[in-house]
Amino acid sequence: MGEISIETLKGEINRLKKEKNAVILAHYYNRPEIQDICDYLGDSLGLSQEAGRTDAKIILFCGVNFMAETASIISPDKKVIVPDNRAGCSLAESINGDDICKWREQNPEGVVVSYVNTTAETKAFSDICCTSANALKVVESIPEGKKILFVPDKNLGAYIKLKTGRDIDLWEGDCCVHERFDTKTVMEMVKNYPMADILIHPESNCSGDPAIHKLPQAYFYSTSGMLSHVKNSSKNQFVIITEMEIIHQLKKENPNREFIPAGSRALCGQMKKNTLEKVLLALQNEAPEIRVPDELRERAWLPIKRMLEVK
Ligand code: SF4
Repeated sequence: MGEISIETLKGEINRLKKEKNAVILAHYYNRPEIQDICDYLGDSLGLSQEAGRTDAKIILFCGVNFMAETASIISPDKKVIVPDNRAGCSLAESINGDDICKWREQNPEGVVVSYVNTTAETKAFSDICCTSANALKVVESIPEGKKILFVPDKNLGAYIKLKTGRDIDLWEGDCCVHERFDTKTVMEMVKNYPMADILIHPESNCSGDPAIHKLPQAYFYSTSGMLSHVKNSSKNQFVIITEMEIIHQLKKENPNREFIPAGSRALCGQMKKNTLEKVLLALQNEAPEIRVPDELRERAWLPIKRMLEVK
């Protein structure tokens, strides 16, 4: 594709979207120009719910592959396409069905909770899914006394273990973006910005540390939770401990407030594979498509359905 202006790209994307009855769903970690053109911007939970609600014929999913797979599982009658099918996730790829089977051999009565950042195969071997927005509710919905395996994110798992006091085995996976946010980094931000609220994603390395939970200015949220917190807060300064592209939306909604990222390199290289040019190409070609085979989809749907039913 030759050099095309952003305005021309946006115009063509909007035209094709209408012509093909397509909807663009995008995660908050996308580049700002994709956040600005999408029909629905959200975190994993919101995007899953929207994929189930939409009447569009085509879902163009700007995220990483496991998110598009989840959309395909939830809405099998829709065509799910992505800007770049090489956008993977090291966290999702850190575990597979065999790993879960091995744990079940030792814990036949145990319950496997998988964070939605997993492949369709891992979901198919799990009992219930969760996102960072509903993880506590999901774990609390499991009968007391049951042993739990939480996969694949050890930091989110440690956070849930600390909050619920439940008997949880943690899978040793982590997100390369959130792993850098350790206790030392957070404590430095607290020292440097004493007036700020510190908003922390529970995938962060510090999430299981009781010392962080004791800080009065520290709050743990999913990305959508961070947006709600700022909306309802009277503070003017916020330290953001997650992938820093969320700051684009925070600034749009709160132009007079200050948002400080914890480090300048907190960017997910996989999400950045999505570009406006690739969004247009995907709409033109209705490809690359992400489709989960029927048998796998039926098995992977059950734990997602159980998650969506948790109130
Ligand atoms: S931010 Fe982390 S968990 Fe999310 S897609 Fe990127 S690598 Fe995966």
